[in-house]
Amino acid sequence: MPRWSTPSPGDARLRGAAAAGTNADAMNDLFVLVRDVPDFPKPGIVFKDLTPLFRDADSFRALIEALAQPYLDAKVDAVLGIEARGFILGAAVALRLGVGFVPARKPGKLPARTDREAYSLEYGHDALEVHVGSFAPGDRVLIVDDVIATGGTARAAIALARRQEAVVIGATFAVELDFLDGRERLPKDVPVNTLLHA
Ligand code: AMP
Repeated sequence: MPRWSTPSPGDARLRGAAAAGTNADAMNDLFVLVRDVPDFPKPGIVFKDLTPLFRDADSFRALIEALAQPYLDAKVDAVLGIEARGFILGAAVALRLGVGFVPARKPGKLPARTDREAYSLEYGHDALEVHVGSFAPGDRVLIVDDVIATGGTARAAIALARRQEAVVIGATFAVELDFLDGRERLPKDVPVNTLLHA
């Protein structure tokens, strides 16, 4: 166990560890190291904080391995990671898959010409942007983020990839908030993978 915190296991349940083929102990650490932070960023929201997990090398490696494993033979051309924790996970998954990484950023952050898609969030409204020309038509794209809550963010990322005629072959998340049914908001033809259900 790490030295720096005493994370709460919350009510997360571990699923799919065996299917992911990763070390069982490391996967148990994943379960323990997702910390619930009540009332962040506003009252009533229980924030799923993965930073203790990122800090633990074995757990972080196991998480990346488990996220990447279903796509090793999926002929992915690029990973689209969602700001901000989707950058941490998505970049590592891209390296594991041997493909490039595209950031989907909050408005005004990307320097060149962008496509923009607005969406609603569990705790507000926002928009995502990607650089125009990030994908060639037919590129096979994997969406990566830390948490799927209402699904609006991932849906916007999918829409942005499709606007550039990419083929979204999947969306993968470390944590899914089952009670929000976020995956129901995603296009039915985008397979969803999640490691931890809360
Ligand atoms: P949503 O669009 O509602 O699916 O929200 C997903 C995005 O918001 C992801 O980028 C998450 O990082 C973040 N997010 C939403 N709710 C939570 C939560 N309860 N804990 C941690 N991150 C969250």
